[in-house]
Amino acid sequence: MTAKKVCIVGMGPAGLMAGTQLLLRGYDVHFFDHKKAAGRKFLVAGHGGFNLTHSEPKELFVEKYNRPLIQEAFQQFDNEQWIAFLRDFIGIETFVGSSGKIFPVKGIKPIEVLDNWLVKLKSLGSIFHYSHSLLDFDRHSVTFLYKEKTVKVECDRIILAMGGASWTKTGSTGEWLQLLQGKNIPCLPFQSSNSGFEMENWEKASELEGQTLKNVEIQLGGMKRLGDVVISNYGLEGAPIYYVNSEYRENRNEMLKIDLKPTKNPEEIISVLRNAKNTTEGLKNLKLSKTVIQLIKLRTNKEEFSSPEIIANRIKGLTFQITSQRPIDEVISTVGGISLEAVSSTFELKNWENVYAVGEMLDWDAPTGGYLIQGCVSTGFVVGTKMKL
Ligand SMILES: Cc1cc2nc3c(=O)[nH]c(=O)nc-3n(C[C@H](O)[C@H](O)[C@H](O)COP(=O)(O)OP(=O)(O)OC[C@H]3O[C@@H](n4cnc5c(N)ncnc54)[C@H](O)[C@@H]3O)c2cc1C
Repeated sequence: MTAKKVCIVGMGPAGLMAGTQLLLRGYDVHFFDHKKAAGRKFLVAGHGGFNLTHSEPKELFVEKYNRPLIQEAFQQFDNEQWIAFLRDFIGIETFVGSSGKIFPVKGIKPIEVLDNWLVKLKSLGSIFHYSHSLLDFDRHSVTFLYKEKTVKVECDRIILAMGGASWTKTGSTGEWLQLLQGKNIPCLPFQSSNSGFEMENWEKASELEGQTLKNVEIQLGGMKRLGDVVISNYGLEGAPIYYVNSEYRENRNEMLKIDLKPTKNPEEIISVLRNAKNTTEGLKNLKLSKTVIQLIKLRTNKEEFSSPEIIANRIKGLTFQITSQRPIDEVISTVGGISLEAVSSTFELKNWENVYAVGEMLDWDAPTGGYLIQGCVSTGFVVGTKMKL
């Protein structure tokens, strides 16, 4: 019996994982990408610290995904299995960073992780087709634009793994959305996720660009998050800000509240301020950083500054009006894309037998810090191991 031929469109972590599992099951796997090389966004993820996954216990980890289908995928291929795969299949050892994030061991560059994986895939007999841009597909063929010519490839199964829509220069352009909508596959518009917030009246605060508000608590609507927030020329960014992105997408009028001293209650703060010679000394006694003090000063007039109650109020809840998220092209990930209503539990498109979708093309969300790549490889694993023969 000849092996079933599978065309995988998109050579990011989701497509590569699906292909790996299929090769191990004896499928004839062909990878396609419109870039001249694979995994560009995977490599970009390596620039600011390559969080391949997180060491969090599974019961906490799984809650980072906002959709049950992605949670189920994680249960089938979790962080420990991914770490074992990196070690045993790709030959990359990892370590747990101080924040619990998982990185390749020191000295291993992101390109080595990718290259090792590609070498393995080649050794299993897969074929790579670069500079192939998806034009169309049906249940048994995929059509590409290659060197200004149309190329139609017949196959038994198709996996769409073309990623989201941020950082278009990496190849993840999201242009596929129109094609899929044209085929009546339920899709949602792309929106920024894991994005900084642009703030109203930020001109003066922007003078603090590059400085960090350490150990503050961010609150937006019902969501709260402790951590470090970075001041930029447009507003605020950093993990706690990314965490509350989903709340902002739900309610764009909500005010962002920052507790600058989460370890003390208002009464304790008022008492420290009252016992000090003046407010500036009181703020120092509270061990607030220079940046925090400057930010408070920007948000209070002279009269307010001498009132312990008003200052305590500001410290416990400095509020800002968000004007927008950053433009889609600049953010770490996107939500939107293929609705999960459109896929089965094995990520086969309903009404599109033989066609599957994996990774960030699907509409799900998770914070940055390893959860995104993990979600992508988990969905790839499910398709690669569960695809019908
Ligand atoms: C700056 C940055 C930092 C990040 N850091 C991290 C991190 O530390 N940890 C983490 O977990 N995640 C991180 N991410 C997110 C992570 O990189 C992505 O979620 C992940 O790469 C998505 O994988 P994917 O396989 O779904 O798609 P992608 O990796 O986006 O791959 C999609 C592939 O499809 C190809 N393609 C697209 N359209 C077509 C077409 N029409 N025809 C043919 N080919 C096409 C693209 O060229 C690309 O190779 C980061 C992202 C960014 C932008």
